[in-house]
Amino acid sequence: MVKQIVFSIALLITLGVFTYSIQRYFRYFKFTKKKHLDHLWKRLWKTIEIAGFQQKIFRRPVIGLVHASVFWGFMVIIFGSIEMVFDGLLGTEKIFSCLGWFYTFMMATGDIFALIIAIAMIIFVARRVIFHIKRFSGIEMKPVSEYDALLALTLIFLLMISLMGMNTFYFLWAHKTGEPMAGAYPVAQHIWAPLFGYVTPQQAWFWYQFNWWFHILTIFIFANILPYSKHFHVFLSIPNVFISRLEPYGYIENMPNITKEVKLMLDPNATFDETEEEGEPERFGALDVDDLKWTNYFNSLACTECGRCTSVCPANITGKLLSPRKVMMNTRARMKEKGPGLLKEGKSYDDGKHLIFDYLTEEELWACTMCNACAQECPIEINQPSIILEARRYLVMEESKAPAELNTVFTNIENNGAPWQYAQDDRLLWAEGLDVPVMADKLANNEKPEYLLWVGSAGAFDDRYKKVMQAFVKILNYLKVDFAVLGTEESDSGDVARRSGNEMLFQMQALTNIEVLNGYDVKKIVTCDPHDFNTLKNEYPDLGGNYEVVHHTQFLKKFLDEGKIKINSDKFANSTITYHDPCYLGRANGEYDAPRELLKAIPSVKVEMEKNRSFSMCCGAGGGQMFKEAEKGEKEIFIDRTEQALETGADIICTACPFCMTMLTDGIKYKNKEEEVKNYDIAELVAMSLEL
Ligand code: SF4
Ligand code: SF4
Repeated sequence: MVKQIVFSIALLITLGVFTYSIQRYFRYFKFTKKKHLDHLWKRLWKTIEIAGFQQKIFRRPVIGLVHASVFWGFMVIIFGSIEMVFDGLLGTEKIFSCLGWFYTFMMATGDIFALIIAIAMIIFVARRVIFHIKRFSGIEMKPVSEYDALLALTLIFLLMISLMGMNTFYFLWAHKTGEPMAGAYPVAQHIWAPLFGYVTPQQAWFWYQFNWWFHILTIFIFANILPYSKHFHVFLSIPNVFISRLEPYGYIENMPNITKEVKLMLDPNATFDETEEEGEPERFGALDVDDLKWTNYFNSLACTECGRCTSVCPANITGKLLSPRKVMMNTRARMKEKGPGLLKEGKSYDDGKHLIFDYLTEEELWACTMCNACAQECPIEINQPSIILEARRYLVMEESKAPAELNTVFTNIENNGAPWQYAQDDRLLWAEGLDVPVMADKLANNEKPEYLLWVGSAGAFDDRYKKVMQAFVKILNYLKVDFAVLGTEESDSGDVARRSGNEMLFQMQALTNIEVLNGYDVKKIVTCDPHDFNTLKNEYPDLGGNYEVVHHTQFLKKFLDEGKIKINSDKFANSTITYHDPCYLGRANGEYDAPRELLKAIPSVKVEMEKNRSFSMCCGAGGGQMFKEAEKGEKEIFIDRTEQALETGADIICTACPFCMTMLTDGIKYKNKEEEVKNYDIAELVAMSLEL
């Protein structure tokens, strides 16, 4: 009875303090922006895959196995912890033993996992204290973060030691008294019990009880430290996966309030569904933490500070200030600072500080390439780039504070429909001398081509990429594909504007293009530009543009599979080719195989860079970077990536994106390797192999 009373009091205190602690965080959610969660079954499945099967943790298989074992171990051990709560409250002993074989299985598995987790804790501490793994350091990592991690690891270690102690002395007690034993404890029986065989039954019972109390009280203490520690993720990481985005990494959410404004600008007589909720007028983008969505804030609370995101960030790797982990930690810290004031004074509270400027500088924000490597690497699916994008939207649309070069790009897109200062009327010059049908002519002849070839601004105006377009058109004609281009009716897709924070300009471009495309009743689009591929495929549907969009590598692969592309030249037989995955084809849309299958068909030696497929590193051009000076750092991203390509010994660096081509060509020049190393798009290699 005394045990029950003491236990009940301890449990009540634990639950009371825990509830108080977590409500301190959760009461701030009401100040964040709404976001609707749909597709609940899809979310559940994603949670099972990523959290249950620890899918992303296994991206690094060795340490991933250690992490996954800890997670799975906790899932099993928690069964025993729940039993302890029942036993403590009801004064019973191993109440779940009535479950028979299942109980035996759970106890035996938990006993094995306790040893595995204890060893894992020693490994984790060693990685921090002895091996000083790089991702555990960074400007955002203060000594307190390190102490926090070490305290949590120590508490988990003690939990496992006491669990093994409990099992060992329970086994010894049952063994020495001949009482029936509930469950099975293989590690306790075969490893630990022989070391304590000298204890009497009374001593065994005493130490069993001692470990029982030590274990449960440590759980209670740990549960109340967690909300003040980065290890809060123990509770939040699974729900964080559940609320994470379902769309491809390349997708950016639409801003409906901008759509309305742009539609009115394009057509002052446009009508809207007046039943739509008006809501309070919103700031464009995010200046402070309460301008972010609740999912962003949830992400920040769930962040484990593991640093996997920062360790793959091309900006951070090359010495720039940006660290996606810092973005998340600062978001959390800012809410902690501003939240109490918001509670007292409401949304109008102003302490003179902001997330942008005071916590995240413009230099950090403009260093991002929007490559999504951070999001891909995050084990719990945090969306770091979305906060960076919201901040850029604020800087551009509310304060007109984009870097000067990007302002020039915006003006060019607005005036000429391209990031460069070329006339819209010159958009078809690249096709001179080639058989390139134009949509308007086709329509005039009552013809409707099967495919629309989306040329993109780089294809139309960039001297190097014009050659790629020409090569691709030769292949299309060789394959007798029924296609046409928009010609002077095509305008920039708006990808650069959107990722640079100019949502207004993006939507103007998108809505104008969609009107043209829908006017021709376009159904299928093929493009060589992965950025436009991503935007047209994933983002135009939000604005009424629904098309079947393929990248030229996917398109050519289909013809290769059908046997219509028959490469019989051995022009590249003595060449060594390495392929650079464009972020917006690979990471953003999951296409890694089509380009490699095409290359496989070209007789040559193929070599992979160390960072390839989903581990590939950005060339440094995305997110508007191609058009501006890089932020200061130790090195430019394009030089780093080119060096990685050169390390393979390849004499051809192949890619499938106009931006990557520009960056890698510059990189080859920078390294003075133009004589030995060439840079080709896959379309060019295929065209040359077909001798077109
Ligand atoms: S999107 Fe890329 S550049 Fe931006 S923070 Fe993430 S990893 Fe770094
Ligand atoms: S955002 Fe994700 S990857 Fe980055 S530190 Fe947090 S949990 Fe780790």
